[in-house]
Amino acid sequence: MELTHALQQIQPSYIREILRDAQAPGVISLAGGLPDGDHFPIALMEKSLASLAQNPALFQYGQTAGYGPLLDYFRSQFKLPEHHESLVCTGSQQALDLIARAYVNPSDKVVMEAPSYLGALQVFGLAQANIVSVSQQADGPNLAELEACFAEQSPKLFYAVPDFHNPTGVTWSLEVRQKVAQLCQQYKVTLIEDVPYRELRFTGEMLPLVSSFCPDQALVLRSYSKIATPGMRMGVVSGKSEWIAPLVKVKQSADLHSSIPMQAVLLDLITHPDFPSHIEKLRVLYQERYLSFAEQLQAKLPQGCHFNPVEGGMFVWLTLPECDDFALAKAALTNKVAVVPSSVFYKKGERITPGLRLNFTNATAEELVSAVERLVDVIKQECKTA
Ligand code: PMP
Repeated sequence: MELTHALQQIQPSYIREILRDAQAPGVISLAGGLPDGDHFPIALMEKSLASLAQNPALFQYGQTAGYGPLLDYFRSQFKLPEHHESLVCTGSQQALDLIARAYVNPSDKVVMEAPSYLGALQVFGLAQANIVSVSQQADGPNLAELEACFAEQSPKLFYAVPDFHNPTGVTWSLEVRQKVAQLCQQYKVTLIEDVPYRELRFTGEMLPLVSSFCPDQALVLRSYSKIATPGMRMGVVSGKSEWIAPLVKVKQSADLHSSIPMQAVLLDLITHPDFPSHIEKLRVLYQERYLSFAEQLQAKLPQGCHFNPVEGGMFVWLTLPECDDFALAKAALTNKVAVVPSSVFYKKGERITPGLRLNFTNATAEELVSAVERLVDVIKQECKTA
């Protein structure tokens, strides 16, 4: 059967494709955006999971917007104004898909930083959006480029990951946040603020959400994949009620609603008195891993390789001397370390700097040491000037 024209254009996700090879025995994976599975807060959910059997009502069909008590919690926790709502989604990935289906016609312009989150490139690609890239700097998007793009091209959406960006780890400065909010309001561009890594800050100061400066011009996507567990598939999108209502309508046709028992378990987990200390432990663990990883990279990488320090999240973005980073990633897998080449984070045909996204949260400190050694060997073989 012939595929839709839209799907014919979409490349399968390199990351999901190599996930099986990356999990083969002996391979150290720096490829996926995986949280550490040994630190899932399962103990904090045990009582809640056991009590589900006493609560058959949770297993009935539920409201599309989500489990009522969880929505009430979000309203107070996110300090939503009266005219805003939340919609619980099957991961924040679903929120992206719902937004594209509700708001993006083929050829509509969607602005993204380059490089960008692969899952968003796929969603907006599938919606046949015209993806317009702006370059990313150390403290966020290039503002002159962004303003010129807003002024000249009248895009509909600006999709952004301002906290510990995937793939680059970049966090926007306060000044950039305020300016982007002002530009979105001035040019009537809707900001899609995607913040799955926000709580994973291990150094520096938590900065306000960009949407806090333009609440009526934004939709905010939060995820529990990184601070609870990704397998629960729990995310939430919030914004003006008139913008959330169409998403509810699309979700009705997508999956009726996200799992109610899982939403009840999520609520018990995030209101558990020990949940804040669980997040604190994750921050400490990831910081330790990051610091030793960065030290190893600094000490062992050949000349011409570069990475900027990160203040949180899960990724280091390594730029490389001239090379074919796809071939390099393949050679690395043969050398039993899995990495993702930079080209997968750019839209097709875009000029790219060769590089790799390296995840530091899923391997132990000892594994990270070996991973760097294996990777450096391959970089020396594959990169011209190394
Ligand atoms: N946005 C970004 C930037 C991500 O990195 C991810 C997952 N890696 C998602 C959204 C999707 O997360 P979820 O598991 O909540 O669907």
